[in-house]
Amino acid sequence: MTVADTSEQAAPAPRPDESGTDATGTVVLDRVTKLYGQNKAVDDLSLRVEAGEFISLLGPSGCGKTTTLRMIAGFEQPDAGDIRISGASVLGVPPYKRHVNTVFQAYALFPHMSVAENIAYGMHQTKTPKSEIRERVVESLDMVQMRRFADRKPTQLSGGQQQRIALARALVNRPSVLLLDEPLGALDRQLREEMQLELKILQSKLGISFVFVTHDQGEALSMSDRIAIMRDGRIEQLADADTVYGAPASAYVAAFVGQQNFFPGTATADADAVDTPHGVIRSTRSFDTVTGGAAAQAAVRPEFVSISAEAPASPGVNAVEGRLIGVSHLGETMQYLVQLGDDLSIIARRPSPEAPRLATGSTVWCSWTPDSVHLFPLDEAAHAGGHVELPTT
Ligand code: ATP
Repeated sequence: MTVADTSEQAAPAPRPDESGTDATGTVVLDRVTKLYGQNKAVDDLSLRVEAGEFISLLGPSGCGKTTTLRMIAGFEQPDAGDIRISGASVLGVPPYKRHVNTVFQAYALFPHMSVAENIAYGMHQTKTPKSEIRERVVESLDMVQMRRFADRKPTQLSGGQQQRIALARALVNRPSVLLLDEPLGALDRQLREEMQLELKILQSKLGISFVFVTHDQGEALSMSDRIAIMRDGRIEQLADADTVYGAPASAYVAAFVGQQNFFPGTATADADAVDTPHGVIRSTRSFDTVTGGAAAQAAVRPEFVSISAEAPASPGVNAVEGRLIGVSHLGETMQYLVQLGDDLSIIARRPSPEAPRLATGSTVWCSWTPDSVHLFPLDEAAHAGGHVELPTT
């Protein structure tokens, strides 16, 4: 992915916020860099995970999520910076001494061993007393509600059940921090959604810090206390789901989390609107850094865009005329794809019960209020991050 050299990226990375206490389970990455040859997989990254917090690392393929996780786990060493777990630097400390466990997308269960033997395996290696092993295996199976499957072989379990066993195996050592690398990626959608809920409940019950890697924004939004949106080895925004969705810090975040319609153009002189080939798009917000006449873009989410056959009567709304080129029924919502001129299409989405029935090919009006519009400097590369092309019918 090519990336525009924005001034934001050129600024030195901040140190992690060190205002909290280093309780058991805190994870601090302090200006961490990881190089593979010339490639900076992780670039001067700082992050503080509080004890008992659920943090997701979210971003497109190759942005450095897994490398960051593997450095916390101890499978990779940083080239610069420090990593502290529960207040102590873990540089040079091997993975098995870090009080951290990792759950991977591939469950990697031993097929010839029973569920209980799989979970007990690590403790046999460390010569844990047999009575303690039995107690801990039962305890961790109870955590994932799988005690009755203790004697089965992994091949006699469904994908979701195998993933629960992988989770139990990671929890059996009672780690202070659990690292999860796309652990639900191999499951079908319904099972994934069930497991998301279960994971969140389990995490708040156990109070263990979770660092969860995903490229699935829905997964990150639904489970996390905070989400770190990553781009090219750096964190572009770190905030709770409401903030990254409702107040994205950049066009990149706006494009990656949820869907977004972008209108490129130039900032108006009073810096609260973008002059585009499709009219002036007004916002109640103002540009921070962009001055009048500079390349800029306005963004509005599809769920804020209304659609009708007639021009909207209300004064002050943003409105554009276009041709309806596709309508998709998404269950709870109807989605409309509208072509504006030759070079831009936008998406409107309305709740199904109130969605207007409009003929494909007809002229329509899309409208939205200025308070739903965010303004950003123009950053073409941002859209490579997550804009999803929609199916049309
Ligand atoms: P994905 O979602 O595809 O797993 P990611 O965000 O987890 O991606 P990383 O796996 O951390 O990304 O990779 C970050 C960058 O480092 C990529 O450019 C990748 O090609 C590179 N990289 C990762 N591991 C290695 C390695 N062992 N050797 C060389 N380059 C690597």
